[in-house]
Amino acid sequence: MRGDFTINQERLLNTFLSLVRIDSPSGEEEAIAQHLSEIFSALGLITRRDDAGNVIAYLDGQGEALLLNAHMDTVGQDRGIQPIVEDGIVRSDGTTILGGDDKSGIAVILEVVHVLQEQNLPHPPLEIALTVGEEIGLLGSKALDMSQFLARQALVLDSGGPITNVVVSAPARDGLRAVIHGKAAHAGVNPEEGINAIVVAAEAIARMTLGRIDEETTANIGLIQGGTAVNIVPERTEIEGEVRSRDEDKLAAQVRAMTRALEEAANQHGAEVDIEVNRSFSAFNLGDDSPLVQRVTRAAERLGWELFFTASGGGSDANVFNAGGLDALVISTGMTDVHTPQESIAVADMVRSAQFVLSIVQQG
Ligand SMILES: [Zn+2]
Repeated sequence: MRGDFTINQERLLNTFLSLVRIDSPSGEEEAIAQHLSEIFSALGLITRRDDAGNVIAYLDGQGEALLLNAHMDTVGQDRGIQPIVEDGIVRSDGTTILGGDDKSGIAVILEVVHVLQEQNLPHPPLEIALTVGEEIGLLGSKALDMSQFLARQALVLDSGGPITNVVVSAPARDGLRAVIHGKAAHAGVNPEEGINAIVVAAEAIARMTLGRIDEETTANIGLIQGGTAVNIVPERTEIEGEVRSRDEDKLAAQVRAMTRALEEAANQHGAEVDIEVNRSFSAFNLGDDSPLVQRVTRAAERLGWELFFTASGGGSDANVFNAGGLDALVISTGMTDVHTPQESIAVADMVRSAQFVLSIVQQG
């Protein structure tokens, strides 16, 4: 009967440990991509790589197709990760991240495929997309040709917290970069002939409202660089920041306010400012009427779980799938303290995540 399955906890853990031991900082996913392609091919899935390096695998089935996604790259430059298992918790040796973000997602997907096959469970067509470059701007998912997928629904296995927390909403993000052009002059001889680009930047930033703007909007100036020497009135200053909001109108209004602050400060000092605004990713909000939300709700009920639908402050491949016309939500694998050497994950949480995905798959 649908809903009856057994997760092999030991296999899931061993899969996870073997993935964590393969170095894959963003941009260096080749080894893990080849390893995973071989595994999927050996399991009988139609497997290929796209031009960006993403691994795409297909398992035929009956019913409403479902896409499963996780990313292969790990944040930063950490290599030689040594996972340690203690009391059912996996961590690194404390000198690196663990890489559970997002190898736990890949391990869960592999366990789901193993269980479906060895236990001969009915399932819909499954499309698996394992992406590169997620941590450096969702590069792999942005390069995916969305028209290749049968599925209109996607599960992105890439968040932490309780497995019953399902992310159904995430913000859009615009990056903002401004270069202020002042005028150089000797700071002691003729400072009145200079235009201080650092002062212009400081005044502009002081005019901006930053931090948490409202419940669904945040803004930050995160980088500043300018000047060449203490005795020179600085000619050039560059600042970079970002705005995020789950509401596109609020995001646009905040970007306008920051842009205006820069232009006004530049005008007052006779400086020039070049401003670039780049869309990093778009927002998504899945409501109760979404068939995918209903599908995961039915799956949770079958397990006797109550779900909590949450909003994320960060972007993920789910933003890109939603922008590409699929309904995508983000499922937790239990990863904790990601992007730090304290990162850890409980084996029991990965097992629960696999149970949840299997239950969702069977609602197809
Ligand atoms: Zn991630």
